[in-house]
Amino acid sequence: MRQTSAIARSPAPAPVLLPVPDHCVLCGDGRLELRFPARGEMVALDAGAWRCTSFGHRHHPPIYGCEGCGLLFQWPMPPDEVLEAAYSGVVDPLYMAERENRILTFRKVVRTLGPGGGRRLLDVGAYCGYFLEVAREGGFRAEGLELSRWAASHARAQGFTVHTEPLEVRATSADRYHVLTMWDVVEHLPDPREELAAAHDLLVPGGRLHLSTIDTGSLVARLLGRRWPWLMDMHLVYFDRPTLSALLEEAGFRVLEIGTYSHTVSAGYLLRKIGASFPLLSPFTRALARVVPPAWPIPVNLGDNMLVSAERI
Ligand SMILES: [Zn+2]
Repeated sequence: MRQTSAIARSPAPAPVLLPVPDHCVLCGDGRLELRFPARGEMVALDAGAWRCTSFGHRHHPPIYGCEGCGLLFQWPMPPDEVLEAAYSGVVDPLYMAERENRILTFRKVVRTLGPGGGRRLLDVGAYCGYFLEVAREGGFRAEGLELSRWAASHARAQGFTVHTEPLEVRATSADRYHVLTMWDVVEHLPDPREELAAAHDLLVPGGRLHLSTIDTGSLVARLLGRRWPWLMDMHLVYFDRPTLSALLEEAGFRVLEIGTYSHTVSAGYLLRKIGASFPLLSPFTRALARVVPPAWPIPVNLGDNMLVSAERI
């Protein structure tokens, strides 16, 4: 679908891409409009842009919207080999500093999966393995898939099996799972159709897929428009409830439930995020940071991150 043939033949990462997309990366429709022009200087991204905790708000390439299916996607997208190299090299100590809050977040979300009961679970984008820890506590036989060598080594140190390979490669193995989880992953994928098809293949019939992703159809996203903080370099595709449901159904899933996802973060982290997203508020967030205990856990749910459960038919 993407214009990658020129990239594959090129020895150096010098992609020859159309200046504007000629079709939607999801449905192929040619009726596209530039929804959000590029923000920030277009410079080569450093490794920090791909961290889970990236502060690269207010910086992204042009983002187009499809009139056919409603998907938003950035264009041009980085070539696959650039993405894979970037994610393999991610190192994110701030994520580890937020461990307790990530665990609180995951303890809440794991309850939506029902009892573990020895079910085999693959956490896609397992990062440092914090969800794996929570899933193991909940009675799942949990293993992870994670491209970052740094993050995977942390998860392995906790005794988990972690596969350092793309999802479609994992799907060619003989392993099959009862549950797949993808927390804040699908918006990072250049070809979510291919990845969800692989997710389908990895599940046993009747197996469950649980995922979270940012929601462009949410009230907050619509109200903030170009100021919505999640318009970022590392987010390649932007779903809303109808586009994600349609893609899941196309991939062979039945959508069971769509709710909202709640993150717990430290007060210090939240204030830094708000300051990076809305510079006009920086004096206010800096003043607050002087009086609020930085480790204070704060649950955040603005309704702009959806939590989706689906069943493999
Ligand atoms: Zn489309």
